[in-house]
Amino acid sequence: MAYAPQPTASHYIGGVYVEDTGGDAIPVIFAATGETIATVHAGTPAIVERALAAATDAQAEWAAMTGRMRGRILTRAAQIIRERNRELSELETLDTGKPLQETLVADATSGADALEYFGGLAATLTGEHIQLGEDWVYTRREALGVCVGIGAWNYPTQIACWKAAPALACGNTMVFKPSETTPLCALKIAEILTEAGAPPGVFNVVQGMGAVGAQLVTDPRVAKVSLTGSVPTGKRVYAAAAAEMKHVTMELGGKSPMLVFEDADIENAVGGAILGNFYSSGQVCSNGTRVFVHRAIKEAFLDRLAARLSDAVIGDPRDEAVNFGPMVSERQMQTVLGYIEKGLAEGARLVTGGTRLDRDGWFVTPTVFADVTDDMTIAREEIFGPVMAVLDFDDEAEAIARANDTPYGLSAGVFTRDLARAHRVIAQLRAGTCFINSYNDAPVEAPFGGVKMSGVGRENSRAALEHYSQVKSVYVRMGDLEAPF
Ligand code: NDP
Repeated sequence: MAYAPQPTASHYIGGVYVEDTGGDAIPVIFAATGETIATVHAGTPAIVERALAAATDAQAEWAAMTGRMRGRILTRAAQIIRERNRELSELETLDTGKPLQETLVADATSGADALEYFGGLAATLTGEHIQLGEDWVYTRREALGVCVGIGAWNYPTQIACWKAAPALACGNTMVFKPSETTPLCALKIAEILTEAGAPPGVFNVVQGMGAVGAQLVTDPRVAKVSLTGSVPTGKRVYAAAAAEMKHVTMELGGKSPMLVFEDADIENAVGGAILGNFYSSGQVCSNGTRVFVHRAIKEAFLDRLAARLSDAVIGDPRDEAVNFGPMVSERQMQTVLGYIEKGLAEGARLVTGGTRLDRDGWFVTPTVFADVTDDMTIAREEIFGPVMAVLDFDDEAEAIARANDTPYGLSAGVFTRDLARAHRVIAQLRAGTCFINSYNDAPVEAPFGGVKMSGVGRENSRAALEHYSQVKSVYVRMGDLEAPF
């Protein structure tokens, strides 16, 4: 496979690529081979300043355009993304190591969905009219101003679009900082937005590590911060934003439960557990990594799971026949191997996997532990890798209580043929994004986000518009004004 065309510089500011080699070099390593495929430079303070100034300068004019005009640009960007899906998917595969088989259908396409959806909604942003006798109030739905987006490394194209699309639809501008691990894809989205007609400065990309993120978050010109990342980073960023009373959206981690009842269709439940644990080599925030299986069907479930996992095609993610690729980085692989060791040391039964592949790159085999108990580390902490913990249960109330016994609350799933039970159980699970007889679907039309430590606010759907705009109410007096003196 020829390598996809790469961005031509580290940053994208004011509608053009910008380089400043004064910032620390950040190597981009292809996870399947360990090769360095590109180098970008972290933003220096001057670069960050330039990006914030560009976003600030562009905002009023962008917000003054009609929603329909903004929407048309976003929709055009969506169309360009679809036309270049292959090239963008190849870049996503190089950036993350995820199989091309996945990226061709899940990354640029999901970004295009968001731009298309919010492009369509941009013209529908309105206020309301409230009649008060002769007088009246009208409300204006206004942009927040300059927004900062900070991304994790697992979905670099999708995260950039999920943040940019609603922000730009509402008349905000954005400075986006990708994860240092996957810096390439967001630059292409910036380039495409310019090509689609977005004025310079509307969407800017600055590279860097946490320090650049922190500089962006604390800048007084920034009205809102949207982070996709881990809970510890979320706490730091939320606290920094709160000091200046900035708006936030926090999409953080999880340790989500999947409940498989005794009447479930086992093939579907196994399919859900595979999608919810091994897609993107398990590097998905909403994964259902605690799979509670009713004791009566547990062995049948494990047998089918092991059989189906033996069909996984592990290898170079550029090969379209491959459906399971490497971990994003050596560091993430070491973290995952560390959790596998803890699972073994704490007495979980290894059903399949559990090893690093003897080849270049950061490959860990799809791993399933059974006989996991609630207190084991692998049942409590987010691993962010291909490690599934299967736990037994006997009755519904017990399963719900144990499923909820976590500080996280991103997702939850239920597999059963009894739909009354499905709805009853889902209503009691404390999670923001739930599934019945399915797992990990994320259509742009549906709100996505977590409760408890998994986050604040929602991405996607009309709900996201609320998080990227604010309401001004205007009282209009029609007669004379009386005053006490
Ligand atoms: P991190 O929390 O380590 O980093 C997230 C982003 O924040 C990175 O761009 C990072 O920069 C940046 N950052 C780090 N410190 C600061 C700071 N003090 N101020 C501002 N920005 C900062 O997450 P990962 O990249 O390791 O991603 C994995 C995590 O993301 C998992 O916990 C996962 O659950 C979560 N996630 C949540 C999703 C959701 O929608 N709920 C979706 C996908 C992932 P850098 O890395 O360059 O240092």
